Amino acid sequence: MVRVPGSPLLSILLVAVTIMIFVVDTFTDLDVAIAVMYVVVVLLSASVWRRRGVILTTIACLMLTLIAYGVIHASIFSGPASGRLVVSLAAIGITAFLALSGQAATEDLLAREDALRRSEGFLAGTQRISKTGSFSLGAPDGAMCWSVEAARIFGYPSEVEPSMELVLERVLPEDRAQVRAAMDQAMRCDGKVDVRHRVRTLDGKLKHLHVLAHPTYDKAGHCEYLGAVMDVTAAVQAEQALHESQVQLAHVTRVTMLGELAASIAHEVNQPLAAIATNGEASLRWLNRREPNLDEARAAIASLLEASARATEVIRRIRALARRSDPNHQPLDVNSVAQEAASLVQRELGSHSVSLRLELAPDLPLVRGDRVQLLQVLINLLMNAMQAMDGVSGGSATLTLRTTLDADGSVQCHVADTGPGIAPDHLPRLFEAFFSTKDNGMGMGLPICRSIIETHGGRIWARSSVGAGATLSFALPVMDSTNAQDGQQDQAEAA
Ligand code: ADP
Repeated sequence: MVRVPGSPLLSILLVAVTIMIFVVDTFTDLDVAIAVMYVVVVLLSASVWRRRGVILTTIACLMLTLIAYGVIHASIFSGPASGRLVVSLAAIGITAFLALSGQAATEDLLAREDALRRSEGFLAGTQRISKTGSFSLGAPDGAMCWSVEAARIFGYPSEVEPSMELVLERVLPEDRAQVRAAMDQAMRCDGKVDVRHRVRTLDGKLKHLHVLAHPTYDKAGHCEYLGAVMDVTAAVQAEQALHESQVQLAHVTRVTMLGELAASIAHEVNQPLAAIATNGEASLRWLNRREPNLDEARAAIASLLEASARATEVIRRIRALARRSDPNHQPLDVNSVAQEAASLVQRELGSHSVSLRLELAPDLPLVRGDRVQLLQVLINLLMNAMQAMDGVSGGSATLTLRTTLDADGSVQCHVADTGPGIAPDHLPRLFEAFFSTKDNGMGMGLPICRSIIETHGGRIWARSSVGAGATLSFALPVMDSTNAQDGQQDQAEAA
């Protein structure tokens, strides 16, 4: 029942019709139940007025019917007229009841429609704000529906009929195979779909999308995927920027650390250079003899070449540390990284009067990691430990660099010192950025160590009891056996 709320013309018309019915009913002596015509008035009133208006109209019609009967039959009783009166009153009452029920049902429907429209509006709004579209995909027929936002994410007008081909058209060629594989999986109705890929819209915009879909089944067992497609471009870009700034920060702190290691580095390079000079002079002496001793000269030149190779290797390692490059994860032997770190801090150990003990577990499995970054972590931990032991006297400053294979299958590295230890209230803040107890400390060493270890899928922690030194440890996951075999091959090839 459609209501024309507050239409004045219809209201006047209704009043006029009511008066007309009353006049005809009261002042003509037709032998029919004219008052039944009030039914029309009641019915129309439901289209013009609200519930209250309809009830008042009904009461008015009933009253007018009774008045008309009273005027005509007050003095003489008429059986048929009384019968018509009852019929009219009943008709008006029943109509009023039906009209009110119809009106209530219509209002309920309109309210539901309104709520539905509002919730559709909310959904479209939240989809737009969260850049998340929804879709459904039937299996195995591939019939698809999508929301306005899903169409917008793929760069199509909302009225376009969606299809898997249209989606694939937008996917970057490099990602097409994995999207197609996800679609094939959905067509087989084979579990939940979770795929990240990129699309390029017609206006050339590159978007990173994350698609998640779950299979649902109707009563007949037909499979249909319901899913969400999220435009995660902003998050991916922020992640890339964060990664870039982490790489830069790690580089800056590495270069700072190299500055602190200057004495050790100079010593490392100086040693082979001195050996080169000594062997060069020796070979000249053997050659300059009245009877040149070629065998001795050859041996001295071989030692010279060896020393030169050593110097080149030291410089290569230091250049690798100073270079700013993206992490290069490769199969790694943690023991060899520990040995290299120990050799790079050799001179520092001397100047801090610290003795270093290397306790390396034999036959450690390989891990996957970036050699330069892990060196940075180890050197950082070793330098911190040496600085912490500065006040320890009497040659008891000892540093232990230990590697172990943990029962949980991770390779662990521990740097233990015999320094003053870490105060209990400092322990939880150790890996916070800018936390430092040193006068000239930056407080960035340990946070960077943590970010490096975490990007390697590992964890880093500290243990200490005041007065009994500190141990900083990290654990790295072991490469799985198939990767490890490739890794050993890689290492053999590199050697
Ligand atoms: P920085 O060396 O610039 O202070 P770090 O992040 O490397 O920054 O270290 C943060 C703090 O952690 C240090 O200032 C120090 O108080 C504490 N710390 C780190 N290693 C040790 C250790 N082996 N013994 C005692 N304190 C340590």
